[in-house]
Parts: sequence; C-alpha cells; structure tokens
Amino acid sequence: MTTSFVKIKNAAKSFGNLQVLKDINLTVDRGQIVAIIGPSGSGKSTLLRAINELDPLTSGEVWLEGVQINRHLPPRQYEAHVNQVRQDIGMVFQHFNLFPHLTVRGNITLAPRMLKGLTEAQANALVEEQLTKVGLLEKIDEYPSRLSGGQKQRVAIARALAMKPKVMLFDEATSALDPELVEEVNMVMKQLADEHMTMIIVTHEMDFAASVCDRVLFMDQGVVVEEGPPSVIFQNPVEERTRNFLRKHL
Ligand code: ADP
Ligand code: MG
Repeated sequence: MTTSFVKIKNAAKSFGNLQVLKDINLTVDRGQIVAIIGPSGSGKSTLLRAINELDPLTSGEVWLEGVQINRHLPPRQYEAHVNQVRQDIGMVFQHFNLFPHLTVRGNITLAPRMLKGLTEAQANALVEEQLTKVGLLEKIDEYPSRLSGGQKQRVAIARALAMKPKVMLFDEATSALDPELVEEVNMVMKQLADEHMTMIIVTHEMDFAASVCDRVLFMDQGVVVEEGPPSVIFQNPVEERTRNFLRKHL
C-alpha cells in the first residue's frame, strides 16, 4: 500500500501584493524522490520553505504522515510543534548555512544535543556515524572555513541526517559549487536515494534529476505547469512552457 507521506493541498503564498505560489498540489509517497525544476523566481524555494514552516503559506495545507504541519496553535504550542517539524524535515540549502564558529562536530551535534538531549557520548557516536556516511570522518574537528564547498555541503547533509529526518529537502544543493565538486555531493544524494529516503529536490541539474528521481515537477510563475516521470517530462513534455524551459536547460 502506498501512503501519501507528504501532502500539499491548494498551497498559496503571497509576499505583499506578489502572489508567489498559486494553488499548488503535491503528494509524495514514502521513499519517493521528487525533483522540482523551473525558472528562477518561479517559487521553488518558497514552496520548500513552506513545507517546514520557514515561510508559512498564506493559505492551503501541508501534511506530513497524517499530521498537518501548518496548524494554527497558541504561540507556545506552535513553537514546540515547529521544533518537532524541523526535526522531521531535513533541509539543505544552496549556501550550506554551516555555523562558522563551530567545528564540523559542533555543527552536527548542536541540534541533536539541544533538541534530543543526547549525552556527549551519544552525540559523538552520532556524528561519527553521519560523517562516515558522507565520507568526511577525518574532518570531524575542522572548522567550515577550512573545507571545500563540496565538503561543506556534505557536512550540511550530515547535519540534517543527524536529526533522523523523515524527509529531506534540497534547495539547489549543488548550484554554488565549482563543477568539479558537484559529483561528490550528488553521490551522497544518490546514496540516500538508494536507502529510500523520501526527498524533494529543487535542482537545475536535469541529468541528475533524470537519474535519481521518480517524478519531476515543472514550476513556472507559482504554478505546477506539468508533472510526470522523468522519461516523460524530459523527453516528451506536453506543455509548451516546459519545452521552452528544457530547450534552454538540457
Ligand atoms: P525560485 O526558488 O524558483 O527562484 P523563489 O521562491 O525564491 O523562486 O521566489 C519566488 C518569488 O518570490 C520571486 O519573485 C521572489 O522575488 C519572491 N520572494 C521570495 N522570497 C521573498 C520574500 N521573503 N519577500 C518578498 N518576495 C519574496
Ligand atoms: Mg530558489
């Protein structure tokens, strides 16, 4: 039986008079990998940020495993709820967002220690497990400034994974990297795919999307113009807007 694990219903978002998301619907099953592609400014980041309440929707619903994420709650309850949501949903950004004053170990253990109350020994075991996974155990005591972009992004992924999230969101995780560093990050994402992590991946890399994703959504001007399996979206899209976009990006 497939369960819709992440569900976004009639999502709309405005910043002042600017309507950035217009009636977006999206369901992602457990273990599915969905790519979101589309021109700059089409609302991809806003949609990802709405999923974990970084940028709450103006209207519509976001659900994870049968629980509504964007609930109206009294402030104290809302804060606890959002903390839980952020534990369940890992997010990786284009610009890594590592804490520069903390070592790799500090970056990865901060949230689990604060939010899950891990002991130092438990936190150290966790950081070693996650760094081994991304192939960076030898950098455990380095500061971010001494890492390459690809290494920083792998640490950011390890940090997100340390919370044992149910879903991972990637917002152009390789866009800021020199071309030769893209592959090491893609490899880590492929490995997560092999482990059946549920993922929503905003990307400009069509080859990568085609190779790892079950479904591709093409967004333009705040709407999902077209969605389908990579073989259809990349090779035989129906919509003219999708074709135009792909002509420029394939
Ligand atoms: P994408 O990730 O597809 O490039 P974004 O979601 O970042 O698109 O942005 C969609 C639109 O929303 C853009 O026009 C952008 O300028 C606008 N936008 C994004 N964030 C904000 C904000 N915090 N305040 C005002 N406008 C914003
Ligand atoms: Mg963006």
